[in-house]
Amino acid sequence: MKMQDYEFWFVVGSQFLYGEEVLEIVDRRAREMTDELNTSGLLPCRLVYKVTAKTNAEIRDVVREANYDPKCAGIITWCHTFSPSKMWINGFVELQKPYCHFATQYNREIPNEEIDMDFMNLNQAAHGDREHGFIAARLRMPRKVIAGHWQEPAVRERLGSWMRAAVGVAVSKSLKVMRFGDNMREVAVTEGDKVEVQAKLGWQVNTWAVGDLVAEMGKVTEAEIDALVAEYTESYDVATENTDAIRYQAKEEIAMRRMLDREGCKAFSNTFQDLYGMEQLPGLASQHLMALGYGYGGEGDWKVAAMTAILKAMSEGQTGGTGFMEDYTYHLVEGQKYSLGAHMLEVCPTLAEGRPRIETHHLGIGMNEKDPARLVFEGKAGKAIVVSLVDMGGRLRLICQDIECVKPIMEMPNLPVARVMWKAYPDLETGLECWITAGGAHHTVLSHDVTAEQMRDWARMMDIEFVHIGKGTTVEQLEKDLFLADLAWKLK
Ligand code: MN
Repeated sequence: MKMQDYEFWFVVGSQFLYGEEVLEIVDRRAREMTDELNTSGLLPCRLVYKVTAKTNAEIRDVVREANYDPKCAGIITWCHTFSPSKMWINGFVELQKPYCHFATQYNREIPNEEIDMDFMNLNQAAHGDREHGFIAARLRMPRKVIAGHWQEPAVRERLGSWMRAAVGVAVSKSLKVMRFGDNMREVAVTEGDKVEVQAKLGWQVNTWAVGDLVAEMGKVTEAEIDALVAEYTESYDVATENTDAIRYQAKEEIAMRRMLDREGCKAFSNTFQDLYGMEQLPGLASQHLMALGYGYGGEGDWKVAAMTAILKAMSEGQTGGTGFMEDYTYHLVEGQKYSLGAHMLEVCPTLAEGRPRIETHHLGIGMNEKDPARLVFEGKAGKAIVVSLVDMGGRLRLICQDIECVKPIMEMPNLPVARVMWKAYPDLETGLECWITAGGAHHTVLSHDVTAEQMRDWARMMDIEFVHIGKGTTVEQLEKDLFLADLAWKLK
């Protein structure tokens, strides 16, 4: 399913106390608000007004319907009037979809002349939403609270941003990851409990033999390769005479995509240590698959592959770029402190400034018989995040750091891979100390579109730990937070 196929259900709370007339006004206004929000262009998915709920049974029924409708990616509630919250308990206890409490109000202004007790009884979200908020707090429900006037563009944007995070939950729950070969030997951070991840996040992570892929490559025709190479040359400049290498990558891509689509997988991992029967590590092939929206992780890193797919799905239709990344090396000159991110081949071209070049170079690492073709480019500038999911044993921790990508400050003419350069927050050294203290991996997902708030929303909805490193983060506070979180998650 694509972003626009998902919908969110708007459930408005009320009660019978106010009489039919008030309920009709609430219903009419809820429809009007829904229509206006839908035509604002600021929501990525359709909002569907379901009901102004007045009874326990109405709430329970709409929750059950939401739980079983795959199109419904979450519910959004609001109390125009007072809605006694004990009637929400049975429904809320059964709710299995992401939940947002939209603490808004129909009118923007208090009408000076007009205001009387009737107005107060009709427009009482200020206390209706507090009663409503209490019950979710009392039930320890994971929820997002968004407060503000529903016509305010910034408020609509926040609602839209939460919707994207909730779509990330739906995508996660049905995500399948194809592993070609195992993790790189002896590496710890790319390991993880696949049973725990499936129970918690929904991911189905399974392995396929590299031999299966080689057999699939054998079925790819020259005409199919011609067509994909033509597609490459539309988007990329060819800066190599080694057309065989480009054609070989196209063959790999077609075969991998066929296997991925046949199994319904939206993410994959492979490793340079297991290329049995293949001449080249997929470089251009993996890069182009990432550009098409597939998640990828190098060295068998299936966690980062899955996260890449999820962040790509969350940012569908946005143009900043999201891809697999690896911290490589630092520039530690006073006043010019930068991280350089890259990978041995597989950097996603959605991160590129300008048109990537297809180049072929020798790749010493792994068992490449031939020089693999890859896309080489500079990453674009702008605010971004890097995200890493690690398995702490018994629980998952999501670490997110704010960064600011810059145009690389040097040309690095002999570097044969794509490169992205950034300033880390709060600064390179503090950020690095925090990242290492939290156990963040060398592999990350870098996104210009997804925000730290969205990742926090996603982690809350998935019920996993969230660690944010940004402006104002200190190592001392982080150590305390991690210590307390460790205790709390053991009790949970
Ligand atoms: Mn790597």
